[in-house]
Amino acid sequence: MASRPHYKRVLLKLSGEAFAGDQGYGIEPETIQKIASELAAIHAGGAQIAIVVGGGNILRGSVGEKQGMDRAQADYMGMLATVINAMALQDALEKLDVDTRVQTAIPIPQVAEPFIRRRAIRHLEKGRVVILAGGTGNPYFTTDTASALRAVEIEADVVLMAKNGTDAVYDKDPRKHTDAQPYTNLTFEEALDKKLRVMDLTAFTHCMENNLPIIVFDMNVAGNIQRAVLGEPIGTLVER
Ligand code: UDP
Repeated sequence: MASRPHYKRVLLKLSGEAFAGDQGYGIEPETIQKIASELAAIHAGGAQIAIVVGGGNILRGSVGEKQGMDRAQADYMGMLATVINAMALQDALEKLDVDTRVQTAIPIPQVAEPFIRRRAIRHLEKGRVVILAGGTGNPYFTTDTASALRAVEIEADVVLMAKNGTDAVYDKDPRKHTDAQPYTNLTFEEALDKKLRVMDLTAFTHCMENNLPIIVFDMNVAGNIQRAVLGEPIGTLVER
């Protein structure tokens, strides 16, 4: 039998990178299936799961801008990219008989429901996994900000920032400094004072102002999403 979750309602942020696997771009079916299996196990344990999906594996507005596109136009393309990822994840979860709903910040009624807060909460209460796509629906924002915003709206107990290959928040960039030290616990104020990058600043401030804990961990280690939901010490916990 699956263990009882420590956090009853979680908001999981999956960046676009998570969908690309080793190919680094687009969607790798095996990778999505792996994520879906892990989520199915967590779901079976009784946790209410909302997922905000990124789109960086397909398109990022900032990259489009560098290539000469209008920023807002590229951002809307990025938001649409998240819808593609959401649909792929929905498909993989439903293959495992997990009931899901996709809700989008930009209405695309033929493929998904619009984001309606009360409805999202109701789906969660009924045991459906809710996949939130389209970010905030506004250009110049990120899916980190969408995660913080939606987590507060749906009254999630925690935001799980699943990273690809980064296992914690460090005192300095571990890719540049071999002596970088990971934190297991941080307060919001410490993270802010030390200018540590937990998530983007707009998103971080929103979590801090609403006293919403954040866990940063590496999702490339099998079972780690579940460990985070079970409240096992993993990665870095940022809280008041
Ligand atoms: N985006 C946006 N507004 C939002 C969320 C996302 O304009 O509220 C766009 C933005 O261009 C971003 C892209 O969608 O680069 C993909 O989202 P993000 O970069 O957050 O995805 P991730 O890095 O998590 O894969």
